Amino acid sequence: MPRADLPRIRVGFPWWLRPFVMRGVDGITIGRRIYVVRHDEILLRHEIAHVQQIARAGFIRFYWTYVIEYFRNRRRGMSRHDAYRNISFEREAVAAEKRGIDI
Ligand SMILES: [Zn+2]
Repeated sequence: MPRADLPRIRVGFPWWLRPFVMRGVDGITIGRRIYVVRHDEILLRHEIAHVQQIARAGFIRFYWTYVIEYFRNRRRGMSRHDAYRNISFEREAVAAEKRGIDI
């Protein structure tokens, strides 16, 4: 039986999530569930960092902060890509891609 405290990883996005997936998105994490377009160690490190952030910040606060920071960055004149890359959770997850993660 899978441990409840470990992330669940699935390749491919579920049908109900597909309408919300923007072009170029390689992975989405919802709580402890990770959806990726391919098995890739760097991508999984990134998404696992999000799982840890969600556990640390709490589900609601994580997504709330994520969206607020995105729109704040857009208001400051950043492109969509830059606004996304400059979300604090994204910067931390990108750093984790290189560093590796202890789980
Ligand atoms: Zn991310």
